[in-house]
Amino acid sequence: MPAKIDLHCHSTVSDGLLSPADLVAHAAKRGVKVLALTDHDDVGGLAAARQAAAEHGIHFVNGVEISATWKKRTLHIVGLKFDADNVALKTALDKVRIGRDERAKEMSVGLAKAGIGGAYEGAKAIAKQSILTRSHFAQFLAQNGHAKDVKSVFKKFLVKGKPGFVDSQWMDLESAVGLIIGAGGQAVIAHPGRYDLGMVNMHLLMHEFRTLGGAAIEVVTGSHQPPQYQQFATIAHRFSLKASLGSDYHGAGLSYMGMGQVPELPAGCVPVWDDWPEKQYLS
Ligand code: AMP
Ligand code: MN
Ligand code: MN
Ligand code: MN
Repeated sequence: MPAKIDLHCHSTVSDGLLSPADLVAHAAKRGVKVLALTDHDDVGGLAAARQAAAEHGIHFVNGVEISATWKKRTLHIVGLKFDADNVALKTALDKVRIGRDERAKEMSVGLAKAGIGGAYEGAKAIAKQSILTRSHFAQFLAQNGHAKDVKSVFKKFLVKGKPGFVDSQWMDLESAVGLIIGAGGQAVIAHPGRYDLGMVNMHLLMHEFRTLGGAAIEVVTGSHQPPQYQQFATIAHRFSLKASLGSDYHGAGLSYMGMGQVPELPAGCVPVWDDWPEKQYLS
């Protein structure tokens, strides 16, 4: 049986394909009972998602996925159960989004040098009102025949050393965790298996994150390979961190795992929702 909880997914407020309300409806249809929406660097979809959740009998949890830089690498820190009206958090995220727009313009300059014009405008047309992410550039490039699909676009254009890559400086780990905790929430390291850290740095990260007051790491996620579930369950246990779980759903064709298909946490994990009232809806 898949888990009835999903604490990581994206709407059109960032790089997902469904609006917050449609995403919630989709989750409900797939049997999800407790849901967090975790758009990149933006809490703008939470109110609409919460309202839709009430209509669909889903128990909604505020979420966000904050971009952070640690040892020159980009990490994603999920915040859960924070106050979405917290001024410090909102102000910091506003700043991140302005930085994203500047970064997108630089990405476009890089792509223009490689002979691909109009990438900023093209990505913006796909993103509509939302923030600009590499996903939007990937969709623009794929739609214009520069690669066969969104995944191969990344390898060709959007990763380190490629023309559309810009080495972004996000907020530091301490700030990301501090903002989430300051807003009354819990901080979670998203998909730790994706960062390509060696074991020494991985352990250093876990130790530092725990010292900063971090609550959990994602153990089961659409962004991990199944053998990584147990690997990160062990790491969570070793560093006294709780375990989180989510699909990282972005929409059909953009995701590795659908909603309502996320396997349960391995035995022995302490779930991040262990002391939440929402726990009662999961049995
Ligand atoms: P950004 O935060 O603007 O750097 O964009 C990162 C987003 O791009 C991630 O959240 C994913 O949705 C997507 N992404 C990153 N790497 C890949 C990849 N290799 N293949 C497909 N999507 C990716
Ligand atoms: Mn994304
Ligand atoms: Mn992520
Ligand atoms: Mn994500």
